Amino acid sequence: METFDFDVVILGGGPAGFSAALYSARGAASTAIIDISMLGGQPSNYLELENYPGMMKIGGYDLMEKFEQHADMFGVQKFPMQEIESVDLISNPKIIKTKEAEFRAKSVIIATGAKPMKLGVKGELEFIGRGVSYCAVCDGAFYQDKVVAVVGGGNSAVEEAMYLTKFASKVYIIHRRNELRADKIIQERAFKNEKIEFVWDSIVEEVAGSDLVTHLVIKNVKTNEISNLKTNGVFPYIGMLPNVENINGQMEQDAKGFIITDNTMKTSIDGVYAVGDVRNTPLRQVITAASDGAVGAVYATKYVQALKEVIV
Ligand code: NAP
Repeated sequence: METFDFDVVILGGGPAGFSAALYSARGAASTAIIDISMLGGQPSNYLELENYPGMMKIGGYDLMEKFEQHADMFGVQKFPMQEIESVDLISNPKIIKTKEAEFRAKSVIIATGAKPMKLGVKGELEFIGRGVSYCAVCDGAFYQDKVVAVVGGGNSAVEEAMYLTKFASKVYIIHRRNELRADKIIQERAFKNEKIEFVWDSIVEEVAGSDLVTHLVIKNVKTNEISNLKTNGVFPYIGMLPNVENINGQMEQDAKGFIITDNTMKTSIDGVYAVGDVRNTPLRQVITAASDGAVGAVYATKYVQALKEVIV
């Protein structure tokens, strides 16, 4: 098994990870970025971003390609498709073991992002790939002229519902309240979209069908009325959970597992920083992930520099 030594190892190759890598490598720290899958993170699946400053409109994949090229300019070493087996953040150096290699790092920056929350109802897992999907951009085209339902009232639910109207004949947005959480500008666009119908004050109780999804059992939380909503597909967009497998419990986390940091992105462990969606943050955007990455990397490289001065 190969062993690698780096000043800074970054876990996760999304916007937070690449921004951290750029700042770390440019700050003269030897830097590696490790990802469990392909590099690019969540934005790689976004059709288009229109709120990354300076980029008026850009494909998510294209933006992440630019992030990667920028990190390449400063010699960041990239290790995609690394299945992480264990992470010891307390030891010095900190040790990350994957199936293929062992990485030793003076400082670790956690940028592993977040994943979609499940509804946790009967039929949801059973129908994944047969009507249940967590990625409209990946699966929307399968629903040409069909009826789909999106669950949730945040930016993701409403934006993805609008995206789905490109294919579907009708898109329900099922929301547990009678007011959306999404930004006003996004709400206004959705209200104008004739293919979207809102199902207010309602939750999904069951995803049902035979081979494929045929309907949802929904409950009106105000009247307790139960009804069937005919649909060919359901896209839950009800928020995110942090990707913290293998690192859970080593540092301070909130009730959902998001990592708690100070304003330098330092976690409760010396030399360990958390940036982007994986940390307890009020806003999960590419711009905030990139900003976190810059802050975390600057303080990680200061930490590494101080360690080197002690050793000398
Ligand atoms: P979010 O903002 O946390 O919204 C989650 C939605 O799901 C809320 O409307 C919530 O209802 C509902 N919900 C939560 N748990 C539920 C459950 N068990 N059953 C039914 N409904 C449930 O999550 P998000 O939309 O994924 O967005 C995450 C972050 O990314 C946010 O910061 C968002 O602004 C950002 N984002 C931004 C953009 C953009 O700016 N273009 C696009 C996508 C995402 P309540 O409202 O009642 O709590």
